Amino acid sequence: MARLGIDLGGTFARAAVVDEQGKIIAANKVALEERTPPAVVEAIAQAAQHALKDAGTNEVRTCGVGAAGQIQGDSGVMAVAPNLGWRNVPLGSLLSQRLGHSVRLVNDLRAAAWGEFRAGAGRGSLDMYTVFVGSGVGSAAIANGKLIQGGGGVAGELGHTKVVPDGRLCGCGERGCLEAYAGGHNIIAQTRELLASGKAPMVRELTGGNPDMVTPVTLEQAAEKGDAVARELYERIGLFLALAVANQVTVLNPARLILGGGVLTHCPGLRRRVVEGVQQYSSRTSREGLLITEAELGDDSGIIGAALLG
Ligand SMILES: [Zn+2]
Repeated sequence: MARLGIDLGGTFARAAVVDEQGKIIAANKVALEERTPPAVVEAIAQAAQHALKDAGTNEVRTCGVGAAGQIQGDSGVMAVAPNLGWRNVPLGSLLSQRLGHSVRLVNDLRAAAWGEFRAGAGRGSLDMYTVFVGSGVGSAAIANGKLIQGGGGVAGELGHTKVVPDGRLCGCGERGCLEAYAGGHNIIAQTRELLASGKAPMVRELTGGNPDMVTPVTLEQAAEKGDAVARELYERIGLFLALAVANQVTVLNPARLILGGGVLTHCPGLRRRVVEGVQQYSSRTSREGLLITEAELGDDSGIIGAALLG
């Protein structure tokens, strides 16, 4: 009997058969040619069939799907999926009809947190908080061995805590969210604005003036090379992120804080600001005994977590 995990992104559906310890036995991925619900369901079914075949089984014990977007509780409905342009799509029931077994749909970053908790950097801990800074800012909390869901199933959305009243517009439709400043897409957008302003010489030098060359690393490097305007933006982003994470440590008192995601991996200066910020700004009692560590499973955390959550 297999545990099947599915990771649904904006361009691929990935499926993996995972053992009880969270080890991937077989995996497959299928490109999303179209993003309509029936086409995405079919892509997932193809990836799942291939992974099961490679694992030499067709009996599914549990199936979890981690998908980028807002999912309300255990409804199986994707309320908002910005990558796919979906609103209120009952993906859970569409998939269980197609696959012929029950399916649990969860937010991808919750699934990733669960993967790290069970099979990665959180092993052996009961109280853990994860922050992933990639194209967006995602987080999830595990308290006493359970994923905190909240009344509506959206607890732990650090990315949508407000850091600037009426500030930059966020992908969620609200203004001033942490993600609108510190998410990778938005770091790029703000750095492009600096480039367009003509006031950030190092950003220009690093990119040759081409906005398509801007990445989050561009901002960190420009700041480190002494570009005053880039440095101001960079420090602001670092402070927003550090304060937000530190405040969550104060509120939740986790035993482990796990940091991951492409932006924190590729921008070591930003990661250092978060670590130092937690030491500086979280309450002393909440950070006593806190272990800050890096996510271990990389891109596989979500698929492993989905399989084990299903
Ligand atoms: Zn938001």
